[in-house]
Amino acid sequence: MATRFIFITGGVVSSLGKGIASSALGTLLQARGYKVRLRKLDPYLNVDPGTMSPTQHGEVYVTDDGAETDLDLGHYERFTGVASRQSDNVTSGRIYSSVIAKERRGDYLGATVQVIPHVTDAIKEFIRADLHDEDFCLCEIGGTVGDIESLPFLEAIRQLRNEEGSENCLFIHVTLLPYIKSAGELKTKPTQHSVKELLSVGIQPEILLCRAERPIPEGERKKIALFCNIKPECVIEALDVDTIYNVPVKYHEQGLDEQTVRYFKLPADKEPDLTPWKTIVQRVREPEGEVTIAIVGKYTSLLDSYKSLSEALAHGGIANNVRVNLRWLDSQVFESADTMDNLDGVDGILVPGGFGERGTEGKIRAAQFAREMKVPFFGICFGMQLAVIEAARNLGGLPKATSSEFGASDHAVIGLMTEWIKGNQVEVRKSNGDLGGTMRLGSYPCDLVKGTKVREIYGTDLIHERHRHRYEVNSTYRPQLEKAGLVFCGLSPDGQLPEMVERQDHPWFVGVQFHPELKSKPLDPHPLFLSFIAAAVHKTRLV
Ligand code: GLN
Repeated sequence: MATRFIFITGGVVSSLGKGIASSALGTLLQARGYKVRLRKLDPYLNVDPGTMSPTQHGEVYVTDDGAETDLDLGHYERFTGVASRQSDNVTSGRIYSSVIAKERRGDYLGATVQVIPHVTDAIKEFIRADLHDEDFCLCEIGGTVGDIESLPFLEAIRQLRNEEGSENCLFIHVTLLPYIKSAGELKTKPTQHSVKELLSVGIQPEILLCRAERPIPEGERKKIALFCNIKPECVIEALDVDTIYNVPVKYHEQGLDEQTVRYFKLPADKEPDLTPWKTIVQRVREPEGEVTIAIVGKYTSLLDSYKSLSEALAHGGIANNVRVNLRWLDSQVFESADTMDNLDGVDGILVPGGFGERGTEGKIRAAQFAREMKVPFFGICFGMQLAVIEAARNLGGLPKATSSEFGASDHAVIGLMTEWIKGNQVEVRKSNGDLGGTMRLGSYPCDLVKGTKVREIYGTDLIHERHRHRYEVNSTYRPQLEKAGLVFCGLSPDGQLPEMVERQDHPWFVGVQFHPELKSKPLDPHPLFLSFIAAAVHKTRLV
C-alpha cells in the first residue's frame, strides 16, 4: 500500500508530550504489523538544532547519517527502533534557506517567491521525500496551533491532504483539559478553541488526544465530540502516567490505534501484542533494588539536555532489575569545595558529553575520584577526553596535559584532528571554520581489541556508534597514556583514532569518544549501559 500520512499537531499549551504520543502511536501501529517512519517539523528559524543551546532546547540528537536533530527523534527511535535520518527533521529555517537558495539560483524563473506556494511546496516535498515501503509516515508539527510560525506548516499539510486524498491522511490533535479545583471539573473550552483555530486554517482533526490529570467523564467526552465535530470514540483520554513506557499500553486501551486503523479502513479486530511493553512497565514499577549514579556535567539545569543519557541509564536499570537514581551534579561544585562529599554513597560516576572549558576541572576531579576510589566510571565523549587528561596529568608524567579546545598548548593530549576518513572519503575540518557543521558527526565503525573488557561487553569485534565532537585523543601521546594505565581498547579501523579507553586496574572504568546513549532502547538496552549499571549493582552488594 502507498504510504499514508498522519499529522500530529498540538494545542492549548506546549510540552504536552506530542513527541511521546507520536512515538506511542508509531509503536502501536508497528505492533499491528505496519512499517512506520516518524518525522518532526519544527517551526523555529534556526537552520538546524545543532548550534542551539541544550539548556534552552534540550539535547541535540544525532542520527546515523550525521544529522543534528531535535530530541523528539530520540523518542521516536527509542520506542520504534527505527533509525532516524536527516530526512526526518526539518526546521522553518532550513525550508526558507532552501527556498532562498533556489531563488538565488534563478530556479523560479523570475516568479514572485511567496510563502504560498513556494514555501508550502518545499514543506510538502520534505514530507514526501525519502519514503520507501513505509505504511505510515507520522509527522509531528512542533509548536502550538495558533503560533504565527507554524502557519506555513499547517497550510502545507492542509494542501497535502487535498492532494493525497482524505482517505490517505489523518489529523490528530493533542490538547489539554485543565482541571479546575474550585469547580471540581475538567475544562473543555481551551480544547474547543484550539480546534476552532485549526478549523480556521482548514484543518478538521479526526482524533483528539486529550491530556488530563483525571479521567474524562462521559458527559465531557460527548461535549468535546459535539463541539469539535468528532466521533465520541475518537476523543481519546490521555492521562498522566508514571513511566513514559506505559504510554503505548494506555493509549491502546483508550483506542488510539484502533481508531487510527479504522479511519484508514484497515482491519481493526486483531489485538496487537504489547507484552514487551507491559514487562518493561512492570520492571520499572517493581525493581528488586536500586543504585545511585552521579552525573557530573554542566547543563544540569535543564534535564532535557541529557535526555538520551537518562533514558539509557534507565534502560540499564530495567535490564538489571534495579531502579537507577540519578544525582545531577554541576561539576563546578568540585572546583570551589575541597571535598568530594557530593559523591558520597554513589555507586557509579558518569561524566557526559559537553563543550567548553568552564567546569572541566571539576569533571577531571570527579574522574580522579572514581579512579582512585574504584567507583565505576563511565566517561562519554568529553567525559572520556577529561578522564584521559586526568590520567596524563596524574599518572603519565604530563602535569600540563590539556585539550586544544581550551587554547593552544604544547601538551594537548586531546587535539583537533584536521582530517579523517568517512566511507571512502577524506573529510577535512578547519580550526577557523563555522561552528555549525565542523564536527565529526554520525555513525563510524570501531574495532574492539581482543582481550579487553569492552570486547567482552559488546561480544563482537566491530561496532558502529554515533559521534558528535571536534577533538580526539592525540595518539602521539599513546605511550605516556598507556604508562598511565589506559588501555586503548577501541580504535578506528585505520588504527588512527582512539575511540575507547579502559583501565584494567579498576572494576569498571570505560571512556568512549562516541555517544552510546543515542542507540539505547528500552527493549534493547545498550551493552555499555547494561554493564555499567551491573557494575554499580555489584558495588552496592560489596558495601
Ligand atoms: N567538546 C568535545 C569535542 O568537541 C566533546 C564533545 C562532546 O562531548 N560531544 O570534541
